Amino acid sequence: MLRRMGVEDRIRELGYRPTDQVRIVSSWGDVVRAGLPAYGKAPARTYVVPRRELDPLLVRAARDAGATVREGVRALKAERLADGHLVHAVDADGRPLSFRARVVVAADGSRGSFSRTVLPKGCLKPRAVAMRAYMEGVEGLSQDQVFFLDRYLLPGYGWAFPSGRPGGPVNVGMGLVTSSLRRRPEGLRALFDWFTGPASSAWPHLRRARLVTEPVSFPLQMNYPQGRRRVGSMLFAGDAANLVDSLTGEGIAYALESGQIAADAIGAFLRSGTESELATYEATLDATLRREFLCGYLLWHVLCQEWGNGLMVRLLRRDARLAQGAMGVLTNSVPIPWLVSSGLWRKLLSPGLVARVAARSEPASD
Ligand SMILES: Cc1cc2nc3c(=O)[nH]c(=O)nc-3n(C[C@H](O)[C@H](O)[C@H](O)COP(=O)(O)OP(=O)(O)OC[C@H]3O[C@@H](n4cnc5c(N)ncnc54)[C@H](O)[C@@H]3O)c2cc1C
Repeated sequence: MLRRMGVEDRIRELGYRPTDQVRIVSSWGDVVRAGLPAYGKAPARTYVVPRRELDPLLVRAARDAGATVREGVRALKAERLADGHLVHAVDADGRPLSFRARVVVAADGSRGSFSRTVLPKGCLKPRAVAMRAYMEGVEGLSQDQVFFLDRYLLPGYGWAFPSGRPGGPVNVGMGLVTSSLRRRPEGLRALFDWFTGPASSAWPHLRRARLVTEPVSFPLQMNYPQGRRRVGSMLFAGDAANLVDSLTGEGIAYALESGQIAADAIGAFLRSGTESELATYEATLDATLRREFLCGYLLWHVLCQEWGNGLMVRLLRRDARLAQGAMGVLTNSVPIPWLVSSGLWRKLLSPGLVARVAARSEPASD
């Protein structure tokens, strides 16, 4: 998507380089490290870019493509008209504004203050929550993206993603499902402090690191079946449509993809005047993403078990192609169903191999 929008070149001009190695640290302390595969959706490239830098590039690409951008405007609610909608909003100074449109795309993120005024109750109920900060002085990661599956954080995980611009701050965070957080005595901030403290497997990298931003938390709309993609001629995109991967909590790629699919459906609707053209938006999203999210959900249930990710990492250490595929899945460059159909499960379910791999106590290394 970034390439198609001309944004990848701009990211490179800012000095960002793609990540080429990914690591997973399992609950058993084993480490697997692999590069990204040359197969999958497209040549695998993944960038770590702060949203503060990425978002203006996306806005610029929209402007260059002919969009009128009104910054600082907050949409409040929509009124249904015979031929579309009247959206009520306020500008940055609190002055009321309104916009008439035949189609509205609500892309107001996981909090969805505008979407909630239209969607049935319960559509935007976060299944997980995450907290992240930027840190400096992180050691020993090279430019690798690292996923830490510490047993204390299950059913959740921590991460450390070095900036794609060498020398930049490292994005460090952790997230877990809300039902588990409710059952724990400690809050999200205490878990974040645990993850960045001496008991966590990330500590060897963080012992001399310091926070350069305060940790902030956000809800994650990881429940695709619960979400809605369309109500009449209002379309919901990105987090507002629950397009977040249950396996990793990533959603930027899906948000961009849904924008493209929405644009295609709206183009067809405006040309034909037939509202049913808008239904192709839901159908295309379903055809593209339903299987991916379902596989992610199932895989997550295995990986959030100590034995599940422990075994998986040991198996990946034995098979370079599978390890690359898994890293492609984690960075969203290989569809999750590939991993499920790749033969990994046949290996995983072979009882002899499971016993051998589980019993082998190998030193954690990278
Ligand atoms: C801690 C954390 C880390 C994450 N890390 C990753 C990652 O590494 N990779 C990844 O792919 N995904 C990641 N995600 C998920 C990712 O952030 C979201 O899936 C993605 O931002 C969704 O894009 P969006 O455009 O739908 O929403 P957003 O990016 O949230 O954008 C919504 C926009 O709408 C604006 N807005 C909100 N309400 C209104 C309103 N009423 N009127 C007008 N404008 C409004 C907001 O200001 C914002 O600009 C992470 C999420 C969290 C919580």
